[in-house]
Amino acid sequence: MDNVHKGILKKFEYLKGQLIIGKKEIKGENSTDRLPPDSFVPEKHILHDLIRGFYKPAGKPYLLSYQATESENNYGKQIIWKNENNAEFIRIEMAPPNSPKDNRKKSDIDAARYNLINKIPIGILRKVKKGHNIILGLGRITSEREDGIFIIEPFSYNELKKENLKRFEEILEELDEVEAINTSVLREVFQRQGQQQFKRTLLERSNKCALCEIEEPFLIASHIKPWNKCTDEERLNSNNGLLLCPNHDILFDRGYITFNEHGLIKISPKMPEIIKHQMGLKESATISINLKMNEYMKWHRLYQFKK
Ligand SMILES: [Zn+2]
Repeated sequence: MDNVHKGILKKFEYLKGQLIIGKKEIKGENSTDRLPPDSFVPEKHILHDLIRGFYKPAGKPYLLSYQATESENNYGKQIIWKNENNAEFIRIEMAPPNSPKDNRKKSDIDAARYNLINKIPIGILRKVKKGHNIILGLGRITSEREDGIFIIEPFSYNELKKENLKRFEEILEELDEVEAINTSVLREVFQRQGQQQFKRTLLERSNKCALCEIEEPFLIASHIKPWNKCTDEERLNSNNGLLLCPNHDILFDRGYITFNEHGLIKISPKMPEIIKHQMGLKESATISINLKMNEYMKWHRLYQFKK
């Protein structure tokens, strides 16, 4: 597999559970459009062509993604659920086109067999109704039944990813003797308490991480003065917010970086060199900041920043 297609698979995994309305975020606005490069995929790309269930990129021997339609009169029920609400399936019974006139039937079946033999994962969408797709993450074709149905079982690169994240969190945790904030619990609370409204306001200003090129849908609306120290008004005040990618959010949230009144970055002396390097942090990095934001940043510099 090339890097573009590997990236697309990772993106499928990242987007698991998301409802995507319209085709714009799957294949671009119109037929000549494609999705722009992003933090997963280095080139213009599409997740699926939305023309038929099987998507085999031109010139490649494998299937890249599959759209399960579950229409009663076409393929029937294909998905055996573990938990439908969490987009978790036990098995998908993927039927190749069955019309004798379909001239791509043979190449579809050959491609599915290629995935099976070479253990290549595929991205899965579920069409819930016209123009509405839910991403089911990744699956792997594990067998071909005698009736020609391919069996897909769930697959995840996550184990590897979890390990990396855990290692990264451990390094920070070791250095982090004072606070033990459970960010994931806090984030859940955020979402309940108007976090989405807060993020929408921030997105009106910019749709990029304040420190790098990462864009929506991968941004976090980070509070400058931490949410649990804020009044309700401060929690929703957009001057108390920064849009950051997940990596830069962790560093800011934990006080490994802050910004001066001109928006110039200050990197904590406690920041491990290796992480500074991995996160691509430059001493000259600057964000745009106004007077009101600086009031909150003052708090961050005083109480949150690790001096
Ligand atoms: Zn970033």
